[in-house]
Amino acid sequence: MKLGLYVHIPFCQHICSYCNFNRGLLDADLKRKYVDALVTEITASGAVGQWGCGAVGSTASLPHCPTAPLVDSVFFGGGTPSLLESGEVARILRACGETYSLTPDAEITLETNPETVSAERLAAFREAGINRISCGVQSFDDEELKKLGRIHSAEKAVEVIGDARRAGFASVSLDLMLWLPGQSPASWYRTVDRAIRLGPDHLSLYLLELYPNAPLKEEMARAGWSQTPDDDAAEMYLEGLTRLDAAGYVQYEISNVARPGHRSRHNVKYWQSGNWLGFGCGAHSTVDGVRWKNIAATAEYVARIASGQDVRQDVQILSPASRVEEALFTGLRLNEGINESAFAEQWGIFPWDRYGDALEPRIEAGHVWRCAGSFGLTRSGMLVANDVLSTFV
Ligand code: SF4
Repeated sequence: MKLGLYVHIPFCQHICSYCNFNRGLLDADLKRKYVDALVTEITASGAVGQWGCGAVGSTASLPHCPTAPLVDSVFFGGGTPSLLESGEVARILRACGETYSLTPDAEITLETNPETVSAERLAAFREAGINRISCGVQSFDDEELKKLGRIHSAEKAVEVIGDARRAGFASVSLDLMLWLPGQSPASWYRTVDRAIRLGPDHLSLYLLELYPNAPLKEEMARAGWSQTPDDDAAEMYLEGLTRLDAAGYVQYEISNVARPGHRSRHNVKYWQSGNWLGFGCGAHSTVDGVRWKNIAATAEYVARIASGQDVRQDVQILSPASRVEEALFTGLRLNEGINESAFAEQWGIFPWDRYGDALEPRIEAGHVWRCAGSFGLTRSGMLVANDVLSTFV
């Protein structure tokens, strides 16, 4: 599998009340310096011996870059990457292309928040080299969007999807969220049905997770909003997927469906033990069992890059056992599950020989399937994925 590049853009126009990502409010001056720092980091990463950990700790046993590895995906994530100007995107992509060998068909995704784009800006992003848009719609219900602290309307999201098509994006993905405060099953199905009518190529369905100090938690307590009971949320997930099945989408991962040919190539690397390099503050990288993350604070990241210091920290060399465990965890998120022979060839163990006794009762419970040398989670198993995956710990 070829290398993927992740570029983190930590700026947002507004902070949503449920958000726990590495982000902060847009500061135009800091953004300019940040783009300079990104270009420097990407360019420096291509020097032999610099990626795979370079100056961090002992380098003797770490992988070294051969020459210009092939890259077939670049993913701008955030934060709100669509706050970049198209010229900034082009500059970052130029640094990627001058440092790595971008394949001619590389998937180049920009996460986009509806309030930050217009027809003109989308056309300029296309011109800059972006070929896939992932749009943070979340809901087609304005009340639900307000409760989340989102600043776009459902109609603006609809407009953006049309504008993205007119700008020539052949791959458009929508993010939707379920289990929102006050969201009824009927409202969720209206959101799913509206998304289907818009005809995106890919959809991601996320359950709202409330982290301990999320402002949304306090607002919910103050306003008396609640989430539907767990059983309803499970039914909402399953019925949402059933409607997407009927519309021709194919589920390929717990939270993702796509039309044929439109899986997220970049995200599949995370689930198939691929290699990726992350650039920017807080970005994670994993290359051949070596993992590290960049310093999280934006200003400190910029200052360190500007003064030639390393931004990488927490370098881990994963043990063979933890790589196997992780390959099981991530591989089972995919609908195709784990092929036992392919797994044995890559990792040296037949997983069913080791875990079959513990997994048999999961088959009886209807949470795991096993067929033609592969095994995986059923849809009802996906609802209890963490419990099933505890088998491997
Ligand atoms: S736009 Fe996304 S990254 Fe920014 S605050 Fe909202 S949820 Fe977080």
